[in-house]
Amino acid sequence: MSRGQSSSAPAAVRGQAGHGLAAELPAVLRRAGLKLTPQRLAIVRALSGDDTHPTAQELFERLRRELPGMSFATVYNTLAALAAAGLCSARSFSVGRPGRPGAAARGATRFDPNMQPHDHAVCDACGAVYDVRRAAPGSREPDPTPPPGFAVRVVEHVYRGECSACRQAQAARAPRPPRQQNRPAT
Ligand SMILES: [Zn+2]
Ligand SMILES: [Zn+2]
Repeated sequence: MSRGQSSSAPAAVRGQAGHGLAAELPAVLRRAGLKLTPQRLAIVRALSGDDTHPTAQELFERLRRELPGMSFATVYNTLAALAAAGLCSARSFSVGRPGRPGAAARGATRFDPNMQPHDHAVCDACGAVYDVRRAAPGSREPDPTPPPGFAVRVVEHVYRGECSACRQAQAARAPRPPRQQNRPAT
């Protein structure tokens, strides 16, 4: 992962404090009903300090370098247990831009240690997911009107677009605009 920490939009919040994994790691595992093992501790530690919303596969790739005996099932099952216990959230965002070939597929499940209410900004180009701080309570945003009989569990927004790194890469690739030639006066 090479994502610049300072490259996010001003509205994005990086490394926001106060999440369900903030407690002592063994206590987190106990609360998720998991036996304490070095592997599970490593998984919880890796997720708790990660604001990139990693997939189980991404965490697995990262962790097996330091713990070669780690299996994908251990990573996935531990993350699923944490999510089921409400200690992190599991969610997926569509990737790509709707209307483009091969785009808007449902992305893999991502795990989010930030349990504060927040929204997300998703890059259509690379799929990176950023936390976005909510507007303060009492802002002018109108209350949403759900369909009749619909029980709202949570209201959240997803900002779609392109992240700063992708926009910079795109700008570097783009051909320079041709220089304006002085036309002879007619
Ligand atoms: Zn991007
Ligand atoms: Zn998040």
